[in-house]
Amino acid sequence: MSHGSTDEEVLLPVADGEPIALSAARIDELLGVGPADVDPAAALSFARNVFVPLTTACRYTCTYCTYFDPPGEASLLAPQEVREIARRGAEAGCTEALFTFGDDPDDRYTQIHEQLAVWGHGSVHSYLREACEIAIDEGLLPHANPGDQRREQLELVADVNASMGVMLETTADVDAHAGPRVKTPAQRLATIRTAGELGVPFTTGILVGIGETRRDRAISLLAIRALHERYDHVQEVIVQPVVENERWRGGTPDLETLRRTVAMARVALPPEVSLQVPPNLAAAGQLVDCGIDDLGGVSPVTADHINPAYAWPALDELERIAREAGVALHERLPVYPRYLPSELRPPAVDGATHPDGRSWLSDRIVEALTADTDAGDRYRAVIGGRG
Ligand code: SF4
Repeated sequence: MSHGSTDEEVLLPVADGEPIALSAARIDELLGVGPADVDPAAALSFARNVFVPLTTACRYTCTYCTYFDPPGEASLLAPQEVREIARRGAEAGCTEALFTFGDDPDDRYTQIHEQLAVWGHGSVHSYLREACEIAIDEGLLPHANPGDQRREQLELVADVNASMGVMLETTADVDAHAGPRVKTPAQRLATIRTAGELGVPFTTGILVGIGETRRDRAISLLAIRALHERYDHVQEVIVQPVVENERWRGGTPDLETLRRTVAMARVALPPEVSLQVPPNLAAAGQLVDCGIDDLGGVSPVTADHINPAYAWPALDELERIAREAGVALHERLPVYPRYLPSELRPPAVDGATHPDGRSWLSDRIVEALTADTDAGDRYRAVIGGRG
């Protein structure tokens, strides 16, 4: 990105809105941060989830991504398939249905659009709403990642999700995002801003090693912080290394780079924002002292469809990481405790302030959390500290 910089500030464009202004001095300060500048977290958390790869269609072609399939080859899960995955997850004790996507399939994906029409949907977001309702019915809390989203798209699905997310990845313009349909940081920042305006508990993160510099990482992290300070909605930030696969031969960041990046993220972000590395993609055990406090989702029943070649470590592997680091391990829901209504929130946790003073979670999600059902019991057991 050609940052509109002066000596004092860096200006980041945000689609359909005011740019984000960052202090150049603050960016420079972060460049020198290392593991010695942070304290390790007292505990690590994780969530039990199932991956629901609703569609592999995507309008973009990021050069490191093995998730998307081109038109004619992309898959679209049928409602019954969604139901079966969710049911298996609930039976295995999961709490989260992690809906993975490409970004809005464009007109080239005629088969996808035709199939959606057969099922009575004019868009993938409309179908996502139905899929989230199926997951709730089967006893899971949806967390959807449908890529860049316009306000009306987010509004259509926000009340059937416990939280949502999109990776910012980087605020830099990198070749990895180029191609006939360029994925722009301004759109990603706008999605994070819109989630804040709508009061959606949100997960985002940076991707390390796709052509960005250390300074770009500092800028990306401070941009996330700036949006969180406005809306209080960023529940966690993922620091994810790019990994080699059949589409990406550009290497993966070394451990020292990751350690310095995680430490930088811990210093850049406010303490209430959780910091996660995915343990199937990074040596999480060697990053605990750099400030991570979350290990993401582990799935007992589905593969990681974003990075299928990298198996999820079993729960006992997470336990080993926590034990060797000398910290506790506890399970969490896909929505962090600060966003729960006060009657469900653990007493020691301060609630986040919704931009409009409302509850962060919809009636539909609160109903699921408080229901006198197996799923309700499971959710409340996690809030109460099972595992
Ligand atoms: S990383 Fe996301 S936006 Fe990029 S091609 Fe893959 S699925 Fe699409």
